[in-house]
Amino acid sequence: MDCIFCKIIAGEIPAVKVLDEELVIAFMDINPSSKGHMLVVPKNHAENIFEIPESDLATLTKAVKKCAGAVKDALRAEGVTILQLNGKASDQIVPHLHVHVIPRWENDGLSVSTWEMKPGDMEEIQEIALKVKENITPSS
Ligand code: AMP
Ligand code: ZN
Repeated sequence: MDCIFCKIIAGEIPAVKVLDEELVIAFMDINPSSKGHMLVVPKNHAENIFEIPESDLATLTKAVKKCAGAVKDALRAEGVTILQLNGKASDQIVPHLHVHVIPRWENDGLSVSTWEMKPGDMEEIQEIALKVKENITPSS
């Protein structure tokens, strides 16, 4: 498959790895938005959150926690932004699910998690919530 992260997982192209487990790999992002920016990636190819099996996602989430704690300690980060994009409209570039782990410091100037905070229309917010609720699959 012509997937850059599958190639990294297969060892066909190099990456600076920080974690290599049975189902998950983590490596440094080559275009870091901050010092220590890394990607945590499931080894089984899944394009996005909609496709990945829940069990793989659970394993991935454990590895994200491990990596976030490790980089926080290693670099004495004051915070860590966890970011995961799904689909072109959300700015996903690589179509193999991955979680960004981005160490943060106060006043580091990054704008990955800032949007204009202006009050929404409460009627619309409630309508949308209702539609979402109708589409939530009950837990088994
Ligand atoms: P996105 O799909 O928008 O969440 O972002 C993809 C991320 O993958 C970007 O931050 C890239 O810098 C990173 N990236 C792409 N190719 C590689 C690679 N070969 N090694 C490490 N990071 C990569
Ligand atoms: Zn892949």
